[in-house]
Amino acid sequence: MTRYVYDFVEGNKDLKDLLGGKGANLAEMTRMGLPVPPGFTVTTEACREYLHTGSMPSGLLGEVEHHLRMVENQLGKAFGDGEDPLLLSVRSGAKFSMPGMMETILDIGLNDVSVTGLARRSENERFAWDSYRRLIQMFGKTVFDVPGEEFETELAHARDAAGVRSDAELDAGQLQDLVNAYKKVFHAATGRDFPQSPHEQLFLAIGAVFRSWNAERARIYRRKERIPQDLGTAVNVMAMVFGNRGARSGTGVAFTRDPATGRRGVYGDYLQNAQGEDVVAGIRNTVGLADLEALDPGSYRELLSIMQRLEQRYRDLCDIEFTIENGKLWMLQTRVGKRTPAAAFVIAAQLVDEGTITLDEALQRVSGEQLAQLMFPSFDESAAPEPLTTGVAASPGAAVGAIVFDNAEAAAATGPVILVRRETNPDDLPGMIAAQGILTSRGGKTSHAAVVARGMGKTCVCGAEEVLVGDNTLSVNGTTLRAGDIISIDGTTGRVYAGSVPVSPSKVVRYFEGELTAHGDPLLAAVERLMIHADHVATLGVHANADTGADAARARRFGATGVGLCRTEHMFLGDRRVLVERLILAGNAAERDEALAALLPLQRADFEELFAAMDGLPVTIRLIDPPLHEFLPPLEELTARVARAEALGKDPGHDGALLSAVRRMHEANPMLGLRGVRLGLVIPGLFAMQVRAIAQAAAARVAAGGDPRPEIMVPLVGAVQELEAVRAEAETVLASVPGAPPIRIGTMIEVPRAALTAGQIAGAAEFFSFGTNDLTQMTWGFSRDDVESAFFGRYFDLGVFGVSPFETIDIEGAGELVRIAVTRGRAARPDLTVGVCGEHGGDPASVRFFHDAGLDYVSCSPFRVPVARLEAGRANV
Ligand code: PEP
Ligand code: MG
Repeated sequence: MTRYVYDFVEGNKDLKDLLGGKGANLAEMTRMGLPVPPGFTVTTEACREYLHTGSMPSGLLGEVEHHLRMVENQLGKAFGDGEDPLLLSVRSGAKFSMPGMMETILDIGLNDVSVTGLARRSENERFAWDSYRRLIQMFGKTVFDVPGEEFETELAHARDAAGVRSDAELDAGQLQDLVNAYKKVFHAATGRDFPQSPHEQLFLAIGAVFRSWNAERARIYRRKERIPQDLGTAVNVMAMVFGNRGARSGTGVAFTRDPATGRRGVYGDYLQNAQGEDVVAGIRNTVGLADLEALDPGSYRELLSIMQRLEQRYRDLCDIEFTIENGKLWMLQTRVGKRTPAAAFVIAAQLVDEGTITLDEALQRVSGEQLAQLMFPSFDESAAPEPLTTGVAASPGAAVGAIVFDNAEAAAATGPVILVRRETNPDDLPGMIAAQGILTSRGGKTSHAAVVARGMGKTCVCGAEEVLVGDNTLSVNGTTLRAGDIISIDGTTGRVYAGSVPVSPSKVVRYFEGELTAHGDPLLAAVERLMIHADHVATLGVHANADTGADAARARRFGATGVGLCRTEHMFLGDRRVLVERLILAGNAAERDEALAALLPLQRADFEELFAAMDGLPVTIRLIDPPLHEFLPPLEELTARVARAEALGKDPGHDGALLSAVRRMHEANPMLGLRGVRLGLVIPGLFAMQVRAIAQAAAARVAAGGDPRPEIMVPLVGAVQELEAVRAEAETVLASVPGAPPIRIGTMIEVPRAALTAGQIAGAAEFFSFGTNDLTQMTWGFSRDDVESAFFGRYFDLGVFGVSPFETIDIEGAGELVRIAVTRGRAARPDLTVGVCGEHGGDPASVRFFHDAGLDYVSCSPFRVPVARLEAGRANV
């Protein structure tokens, strides 16, 4: 029979699938002998079954009762007992951490009788009634969806009636009245009395946590974080300990290293006389963890020693939630902590230095996505005005946008916005996703806003206490700003500025550019070390897509070992457009040859620059791809110009000729029309001119003592016969240019037919490069220029895919064609070189796939080169 419940002493940290992250880690801490309140975990499997059938799995409640008795025996107390009640907390805990996403209910087991027992035992009547009113509130909201405001309104009434400003000032009698008011709210909303049976409370709470898995905000979070929707959550049931029992009690959150910078030390927040949720919700301002030393030196020392043990056990940064009850420390949670991208690099390098992990493991602790975030710009401090105020630097980055207080999703559609709140809660998630950055006036580094923003890599300044958030305005030190006003926030320094502050390039980019050295900078030193190791272990090379000498030079500084794609059509733009026009309008062979002859020296000069920048490394030059009419003015514009001229009785002249050419060349589906190899086969001399320019440029570089390594690539091939025809012509041209080095000829694979007939095509190609932009377009039949804005939103909602196939390779579709082409191509030509040059070449998830598919290199934009290098290394450890 399936077992649904595990005592904390039975599990361990590797059972996250079954017990969820929180449950597995509570079990691990229990096994380590740390002070964890006794309890048990209901498995994710029970949750899945509940969500599937709509009712509790058979046997579950009996198992819960059995484990509850074990907890009772351990503590010598009975659940909800009238004299000395055992109370329970019920918390969700999925395999992947979803901060603040799901439900927690505390103080389960209190009722009209046990509340008096708790009051007597704790000798604190106020505490007992406060716990009871919290239970009714949390239980009502979570289990029966009673609107939270209804409780808040009663609480405000109670404060007004008592003439006090904070909840903490309500006395026991006033809280007892509040309990009665809450019960009425509960009854009015649910049509039933607040359940007095502790067991009924417990079972209802477990069901509510199960259902919370499917709450809208949880679904949105999972979609964003790409967490599967069908995992379900475990439920952790634990004996309550109380941080709100007076000055010798409190609750806190701690990190074993600074999650923002990675620095070693003691980081965290502590709140005296409070329950755990008060810290995480950021409702009251906390003190730094170091201040706990003065308040309770014994607990502080014990906490530090536990933190050290946890780091050793997990071999990583841990974050911890703890409670102190009357001077006794209890561990409520630990997990490998979230961290900023900078901290991820710094900590990985530190752990290597400390001998805790190997360099290979260190590579697994960082990601290309994190490196990409470190390459974002930051504010140019020298051009910044005086800050309005400084808050807590909660999640790094520089964000500029219009202030919104609410509904950031809608406002973000018209431009970048900064979400400004007193504090955030899980309902703000869609707004946080939509905003460029988040500013709050309350809460520390562990508040909801901070934790969620860090997880999303979004800029966040929190706890800016001088910011007073009113109705659609914020005021700070005499300045008032309204919704729509521009504000700039710096999540690295915590500074907040009115207006728009200019941004400057990232330190990491300046390091890659060679403008900064890593010496003395922990972040740059960590990046350098991990990049060196990534390059050392990678078998997948990284080339760059570069069309100019300047781009190629930057790519080389960023570590590219070649140019994987030079799109030559980019060399036909600007002033050169007229030359292309002449080619198109040529009435006979002589005019056409003249136009081509004019283009030749320009192309040659471009290539020379490129070969110089990439001297000694391969430069793959793709022959012209797009339809020629893309170089002519649009049909509507020309038609209007010609009509205007004719209306004035003038001769439209050149425009007239252009118009008829545009009409002649008009295509209903240009992406599927006369482009790529088709164009080369139809316009005599065009490809030959480009091949000649490449050969002459290479010969000139050789003559100048250089080491050019050009390769010629033919786009959009679908049949080997196309490639053979181009190849024959190119070989003739190459043979006619003295002094050129050997030049390999290959093809792009970007039409499904080319992938399927790769065996034949390899007969005429020395290399393949997958054009995954077109390959994706043609595999799905999606126009790459239209569909993303047209309907992908709906497709994400429907779960057709979780990420655009133009961003991350669709492994089952376009990816399968890649695998087929690699296999068939290499079978026909074992030394075939295979790369990819579509956008996917710089996408971390896709890089891993290309490594697995056995490619030789990926090629991506120069700025993505470091990301791809890191991922190529990670893919091979
Ligand atoms: C591709 O299709 O993936 C490619 C690299 O070519 P382009 O983007 O220029 O069509
Ligand atoms: Mg293409």
